[in-house]
Amino acid sequence: MIASDLLTLTEAGLYCPAGDFHVDPWRPVPRAVITHAHSDHARQGSERYLTSHDGRHVLATRMVPDAVIDTLEYGESIDLNGVRVSLHPAGHILGSSQVRIEHRGRVCVASGDYKVDRDATCAPFELLRCHSFITESTFGLPVYRWPPQQEVMAAVNEWWLGNREAGRASVIFAYSLGKAQRLIAGLDPQIGPIYCHGAVERVNRDYRETGVSLPATAYASSRSARDYAGAMVVAPPSANGSPWLRRFGNCSTAFASGWMAIRGTRRRRAVDRGFVLSDHVDWPGLTGTVRESGAEQVFVTHGFTAACARWFGDQGLDAHVLPTRFEGEQDDRAEDAEQEPDAQEPDS
Ligand SMILES: [Zn+2]
Ligand SMILES: [Zn+2]
Repeated sequence: MIASDLLTLTEAGLYCPAGDFHVDPWRPVPRAVITHAHSDHARQGSERYLTSHDGRHVLATRMVPDAVIDTLEYGESIDLNGVRVSLHPAGHILGSSQVRIEHRGRVCVASGDYKVDRDATCAPFELLRCHSFITESTFGLPVYRWPPQQEVMAAVNEWWLGNREAGRASVIFAYSLGKAQRLIAGLDPQIGPIYCHGAVERVNRDYRETGVSLPATAYASSRSARDYAGAMVVAPPSANGSPWLRRFGNCSTAFASGWMAIRGTRRRRAVDRGFVLSDHVDWPGLTGTVRESGAEQVFVTHGFTAACARWFGDQGLDAHVLPTRFEGEQDDRAEDAEQEPDAQEPDS
């Protein structure tokens, strides 16, 4: 049991017995509270979903068409069988939430995936005070520290400009939900046109419908005999090395990910450039957040769980590993393998 019986682990995942709801369940359940729409957090088949208002469009796209999705504004609370539940910005992707659960004076926060750096495509992370905090640890090792986003985007734009001057297309691989839109928001559209893989363009539409402003993008169709020299192309990692890439002719490739902080990862990716851009907290962000939450009890999930829990234990916290069925964005295949590279793309 976690946090004075507030949360426990069942076959379907994290469960609040008093409130009778699951958070990011692995299997279909009667009521699922969803932190965000990435596939390792939002599974199809539950009877009802509860997510943030900002997260409705992106979640609906990934659910079956008749899925029942209730929403809450950030900070708004509801009563589920005497348990007070509210959603607060996690700063990870559009609509991502921390779930604050309060019962008989005890507060538990399940943060989902989160990051504390600001970006233009989602509401900024909100620090919550709590007794128990459930943190991810995707990049929960001291080696992971992110350069400022502005610096990274300046380097991306410079790379693009250099490729344009050399008559090449720039193809950048990034998760289709979240990372791609964050990249696009930071691109300088003065340099040239921006084209997107169908999986990315679909999510762009959800972002725009939710009110996020992005530079103009167009679908990189196979049917038009367009010259892509000088253009920027944004595609999911699964498109790397696929026949889909041939239409761009002479091109330079790059990958945008927190994993690019490690040189060997860059080599394994077989891309020309790596840009360190993550939608997850880095080590200073993670440890700072746990400290400032005031939590005396911390549960570590998704990523470097054992090392991270041990570190918090050494700091005097009551720290535990919370097992998960998913490795999440540790390996991009989990997120983007479902996106068919070509056959099912919309044509526009
Ligand atoms: Zn995520
Ligand atoms: Zn995740």
